[in-house]
Amino acid sequence: MFKKATLPRLWYIIICILFIMIISQFIHMKMQTIYAEEQDSHLPAVIDLRDENEHEFYTALDGEWFFFEKKLIPPAEAYHYILRDFLETELLPSSFKEQTGDNDTFGTYVTRVIIPDEYVGRTLAVYIPFQYSAYKLYADQIEIASNGTVGMNSVEHRSEMAPKMGIFVPDSNEVLFTLQVSSFGQLRGGFENSIYIGDPVIVSQKFNFNIIWMLFVIGCIFIIGTFMLLFAWFRKNEKTFLIFGLFCISFAIRAIFAEPFYYTLVLYQINYSWGTRLQYLFSEASVLLLILLITEWYEKLFVKKFSKRLLRFIVGGIGSLLAITLFTEPIIFQRVYQFVLILSLFVAIPVVLEARNGIKGLEKKDIPNIIGLILVSLSLLNDYMFVQGWIFTTTLSLLTVGVYVVLQIFIMSKSFADKVQETEQLNHSLRTLNVTLDEQVSARTKELKLANEKLAHQAAIDSLTGLYNRHRFNTYIRQAFQEALDHQAALSIIMLDLDEFKKYNDYYGHIQGDQLLKAVIEITSQQLPFNSLYARYGGEEFIVVLPYMKLDEALATAERMRQAVEDAQLSHMNRSCGITTISLGVATLDQHTRYRNEVELVGEADRQLYRSKREGRNKAYAAVDTK
Ligand code: GH3
Ligand code: MG
Ligand code: MG
Repeated sequence: MFKKATLPRLWYIIICILFIMIISQFIHMKMQTIYAEEQDSHLPAVIDLRDENEHEFYTALDGEWFFFEKKLIPPAEAYHYILRDFLETELLPSSFKEQTGDNDTFGTYVTRVIIPDEYVGRTLAVYIPFQYSAYKLYADQIEIASNGTVGMNSVEHRSEMAPKMGIFVPDSNEVLFTLQVSSFGQLRGGFENSIYIGDPVIVSQKFNFNIIWMLFVIGCIFIIGTFMLLFAWFRKNEKTFLIFGLFCISFAIRAIFAEPFYYTLVLYQINYSWGTRLQYLFSEASVLLLILLITEWYEKLFVKKFSKRLLRFIVGGIGSLLAITLFTEPIIFQRVYQFVLILSLFVAIPVVLEARNGIKGLEKKDIPNIIGLILVSLSLLNDYMFVQGWIFTTTLSLLTVGVYVVLQIFIMSKSFADKVQETEQLNHSLRTLNVTLDEQVSARTKELKLANEKLAHQAAIDSLTGLYNRHRFNTYIRQAFQEALDHQAALSIIMLDLDEFKKYNDYYGHIQGDQLLKAVIEITSQQLPFNSLYARYGGEEFIVVLPYMKLDEALATAERMRQAVEDAQLSHMNRSCGITTISLGVATLDQHTRYRNEVELVGEADRQLYRSKREGRNKAYAAVDTK
């Protein structure tokens, strides 16, 4: 829920500034009108500018002018007409409608202007903003500015709305200004915008400043519009951006063709009829896009579809208006536009009422957008009423659209920056998470590898003696046998068995029997080369694999093992000799023997072991050439 108290201060300031700007525009306009009325001089049709600042001479030629309705008076005859007819004077700027009650008319305005003495013999400039009429302006006898073709009827008359500048050199301090004006087939006519007179430097400065300022704002809106369009194009599914982009571009183009009609300065190929048509086409397109934008917002805010039927009605209405604008003459499409706009006010009422109900659900972040949309809509309405001559403000929509676009950019860049930051943070935490995950995985893998190794080791090792077990021996001897065959190398094995161990167990008990087994292993191991494999074959029988070892060498090794056990003098009181001894059997695979496999080789060693037993124990025998 949106609470008034939580509205950020920034938005307050922005809204206040906008409000003040609009109000000040109103006051400024009002003051100008009052000022013009106060200038009511007692001398008929004299505009006295003698007191103007010499260094910054620039002022409006607002004031009393003689008016000759339905007469186009040449400047040379102006004095004659004044003296002969001595007509009532009128105040300029003003519309034909106010002065004559008719828009379609023509006439001549004449006034005397008293200029500062310093400007006698020096160049002076006039600046005439756009008028909805054709005119010709003379200073004394010389034509200094004209626009369109002044005529006495709609056939002779041709409108043009360009702003104009002119220069002249006064030869005395009183200059007679003659202004011929005509207007036909238009909604407005007359001389409604002030003529300015002044030092040429200042006049051209003001003239250029206005154009540059406007083009700058138009350019900004255009660029933002292009950005939005491209953004929508690359992102897809960004309907709001697409509509907003189109609105900006359409509005920027409209601004070039609308008041003060700067297009006439560069696009002189475009005549009044097409200029006005383009102005209306882009105005209508802008309004349509603005409505679409409002409906988009409406659906986002109120999570409710905007009435399809109402939207279809609006789109259809503006679509027909666009077609009429494209194919008819300005006076027709301008009238239709006026009529449709009045109608649209009635359409706006249910929309506003509907929107008001939803305001309660507004979120803080939507406020600037809603304010922007309301301001733009109001300013478009203001411009329309101003152009119709119903109110005396000024055109505001370029300003408000500019402000709205800046506001939009502010919101967008903020949310864009937030999104980027969020993504960066997310990326960062993801990267950290990845690293920790990698670390964790590699740590676990290491642990697992160690556990596996341990398990493999455990599976291969006899727990009592620490030697390899029978299983490991089987695998190893198979490989070693094949390797010996492949390399045509010798392979020896020694089998050994403790003598009368049963009796030892009987006498000392099994626990001590185990200790004896360990002691015998310890002693015999020391006699073996590093590449040998010592394994427990079963019970108190052991086996040694000796790769690359020939028979005599193996027999010598066996003999050394036997001797070592004997030398250790491990007591065995249950035997006649009183000490522990071992019996051994040796077998070797070499070029002389023809064991077909490792089983045969082991069998031979076993046979030799039993031979040792048979021969009285504590012996080491080897098979000499068996096969
Ligand atoms: P021989 O000289 O003929 O080899 O006589 P022996 O008594 O050593 O032979 P026999 O094969 O009859 O007995 C082997 C004994 O070894 C039987 C068993 O109790 C004992 N034995 C086998 N494994 C272990 C062991 O791990 N620990 C102990 N303490 N005794 C074992
Ligand atoms: Mg034994
Ligand atoms: Mg045995």
